[in-house]
Amino acid sequence: MALFTKQDALDYHSQGHPGKLETVPAKPCQTQKHLSLAYTPGVAEVCRTIAADPHTAYDYTNKGNLVAVVSNGTAVLGLGNIGPAAGKPVMEGKGCLFKVFADVDCYDLNIDTKDPDKIIEFVKLLEPGFGGINLEDIKAPECFYIEDTLKKEMDIPVFHDDQHGTAIISGAGLINALEIAGKKAEDVKLVVSGAGSGAIACTRFYESLGVKRSNIFMYDSRGLIHKGRTDLNPQKEYFAQDKDHGTMVEVIKGADAFLGLSVAGQLTKEMVASMGENPIIFACANPDPEISYPDAKEARPDAIMATGRSDYPNQVNNVLGFPFIFRGALDVRASAINEEMKVAAANALAELAKQPVPDEVKKAYGVDSMEFGIDYIIPTPLDPRVIEYVSAAVAQAAMDTGVAREPIADMDGYRAALKD
Ligand code: NAP
Ligand code: MG
Repeated sequence: MALFTKQDALDYHSQGHPGKLETVPAKPCQTQKHLSLAYTPGVAEVCRTIAADPHTAYDYTNKGNLVAVVSNGTAVLGLGNIGPAAGKPVMEGKGCLFKVFADVDCYDLNIDTKDPDKIIEFVKLLEPGFGGINLEDIKAPECFYIEDTLKKEMDIPVFHDDQHGTAIISGAGLINALEIAGKKAEDVKLVVSGAGSGAIACTRFYESLGVKRSNIFMYDSRGLIHKGRTDLNPQKEYFAQDKDHGTMVEVIKGADAFLGLSVAGQLTKEMVASMGENPIIFACANPDPEISYPDAKEARPDAIMATGRSDYPNQVNNVLGFPFIFRGALDVRASAINEEMKVAAANALAELAKQPVPDEVKKAYGVDSMEFGIDYIIPTPLDPRVIEYVSAAVAQAAMDTGVAREPIADMDGYRAALKD
């Protein structure tokens, strides 16, 4: 039975204060003195201080805890190009999750342009007031150019969550799935269905985790990506095989892993049956995966399966990543979220999945057992330890790679504070 009706969803958003976010003052504003501190004339002292040293904006404004969620609504959830106004509920929702899971503040900025250079210009102009930028639901391939350019030209973290959030969470799953299957990343043959924002980012990240590019076979809607094709964008070209090895049905025989970020129905039971031992199947098309969980398990009970869905084990849920990754990055006033920070986040999630699960977490999911194994390779979002593991790992990696402008001296104290 569905958890809610259409009317429930509409009511939830419209009742009381329409929408899901509001502004809450963080300082008292009750007395005349408060007012003269909060605004003119007292505020001028702070303005002068920041004008003399712009970095103090982190001390005297909300910059250091503030993320802009920027979207033009061209690739919203599985809904496609519905535009910035229709995408706003998703961006507000993202703001709620940032706040609830990691106490990160957020403004959602829904902008009416499809022109990548205009988006770049807009986002760059935001830098003085924000600690980080979460690009969201901007379609491929423009999203690659937009993010790459902004990363080069901005001095605060820029993170396209549809790409890297998915990569980090599924990457954590891959680390653990490989351990369970007794396989090494460098030996794995990986078949990828999809070559859009999710698939490209995940596959690139799996390379960072050790998977060899020569062992990756990526398919888009026109077939295998190989050097004989003339229709490839640079991101697809990067994964081009030397020649056409044939259809996915042929190539998946004996493969160790399948990653789907495409459309439902791409994987059949027969294809799953033909894969190697303990096949790793991450079928993440939403809402209907490339193969359903029951079908994959029927074909291969030894399959280690993850999907984007909450009603089957091993959900690749981006909320396990973005709130905590930004928390860690903001807490060291990071200038970027680099590859090492992403790998650290994936390793932290993978490590957490191996720890005994507290009873309160099992209770929250209504299960008696949650134990590291093929049906539990990724922690769950309601596990209160995620913040401690992921944010601390990200902050540490930022310090180790020289992008932390305000290193944390007492990491144990920081970890303890994250728990509270
Ligand atoms: P996208 O950028 O639009 O990419 C979709 C890709 O699928 C494109 O490369 C497209 O090929 C390919 N495709 C379409 N039909 C295909 C077919 N018959 N065979 C092989 N490839 C085919 O979309 P995205 O943002 O990456 O998302 C893809 C899917 O993953 C969506 O269902 C999305 O909801 C889901 N997703 C789930 C999670 C999660 O669970 N955490 C996260 C991100 C995305 P062309 O390049 O030829 O058009
Ligand atoms: Mg998204």
